[in-house]
Amino acid sequence: MSSNSRQPDNARLDRVVADARRRSEQREKTYREQALAIYPWICGRCAREFDRTNLHQLTVHHRDHNHDNNPPDGSNWELLCLYCHDNEHQKLLEAAQRGPGTGASSPGSAPATHSPFANLKSLLGKKK
Ligand SMILES: [Zn+2]
Ligand SMILES: [Zn+2]
Repeated sequence: MSSNSRQPDNARLDRVVADARRRSEQREKTYREQALAIYPWICGRCAREFDRTNLHQLTVHHRDHNHDNNPPDGSNWELLCLYCHDNEHQKLLEAAQRGPGTGASSPGSAPATHSPFANLKSLLGKKK
């Protein structure tokens, strides 16, 4: 009987996790490198210029916010500095919260089951 305390299953799991992580890092690295190869190292918002010393502050933004959409022609990428990238997502968040016509904060547009104005509406309609 061999009483090895090795745990091959754990080791395999570690490898799988590491592999998955490496793959997603590689994918990110790939589209970032591709974007940096296609576009000039300039922020698309504030026009700040970057070089090798501060390139880590230049990020790749996905125009449609889908990080899996990485067309090789770069049409879904936009180079933004950290601040502008942050702003860009903040803007989208705020826009999504406000939403065109779907604002839940306006009481007038709330769907009324028993509207006290339903009667009034028909009254007004009759008057007309
Ligand atoms: Zn910027
Ligand atoms: Zn982004």
